[in-house]
Amino acid sequence: MEVISGKELSAAMKKEMAEKVKKYAVEYGRVPNLVVVLLGEDPGSVSYVTGKTKAADEVGIKNSTITLSDKTTEEELLSLIHGLNEDKTVDGILVQLPLPKHIDENKVIETIAKDKDVDGFHPLNVAALWQKRPCILPCTPKGIIRLIKSKGIEISGKKAVVIGRSNIVGLPVAKLLLDENATVTITHSRTKNLAEVCAEADILVPALGKPKFVKKEMIKEGAVVIDVGVNRDPETGKLCGDVDFDECAPLTSYITKVPGGVGPMTIACLMENTIECYLHNVGAR
Ligand code: NAP
Repeated sequence: MEVISGKELSAAMKKEMAEKVKKYAVEYGRVPNLVVVLLGEDPGSVSYVTGKTKAADEVGIKNSTITLSDKTTEEELLSLIHGLNEDKTVDGILVQLPLPKHIDENKVIETIAKDKDVDGFHPLNVAALWQKRPCILPCTPKGIIRLIKSKGIEISGKKAVVIGRSNIVGLPVAKLLLDENATVTITHSRTKNLAEVCAEADILVPALGKPKFVKKEMIKEGAVVIDVGVNRDPETGKLCGDVDFDECAPLTSYITKVPGGVGPMTIACLMENTIECYLHNVGAR
């Protein structure tokens, strides 16, 4: 069993990106510019935004956070996004989700210019992903594939099982695994015999958001397990994944930990997406 460290891999990616950004700055006369929009003071969202802006600083990406009240109207938010879309010096726009209930998230996502959509959530980017056309990939699924590939693990022909079918993780990671020629099963809360289905997986990607849900009987001997969940352990109050790491890890060939697995990769891929949007914006791509 080997732990795949997202922390180490993301650190290497950020270092490499920092070098590139320095070169781009000379070539194109400015560095990439990411604008993050945060509504309200939810501690989870604030901490995610802090993680993203810290990574941007490390990579040399100019960044700013526009913090608005959670009473901001949908109209005000959409008007801010329109302004950022038109601002040629802005390469990437990220509106931290979830948004307050009175704001339609879909409307916000589709208002962000598709070429500045660093999260890869815009319907045109999603459609392009499903048609295998060039697009901005969503960060978490992109990071998951990177983690698997970083160890030279063969995906082609393998049985992959994803637990969860959300727009941000389950569905896109299933599509990316399919694009890598895995035979993919997407499972969810109505799946019958989930444990048996999972126990057939060569590659298991739990993304359901239930602490330590995946137990050893759900793991095939030698499986690769990429744990996407971010939960609080009800007993210890500490961060934990969807996988019961202590009992599952010995059965696996490769496994990720929470924290230090998928989370840092999501952020590194966000930086990559920002640089991609920048290169597009300056006319390099
Ligand atoms: P979500 O939108 O709540 O979706 C959860 C999915 O899991 C749903 O499709 C749901 O099925 C399925 N599910 C729930 N209970 C289940 C059960 N008992 N058996 C089988 N399937 C079940 O969550 P999400 O946004 O995809 O996030 C999933 C987890 O990943 C969360 O812990 C989140 O914090 C974490 N996450 C981590 C990162 C990162 O960067 N590390 C990024 C994004 C998300 P139905 O569709 O049938 O309801």
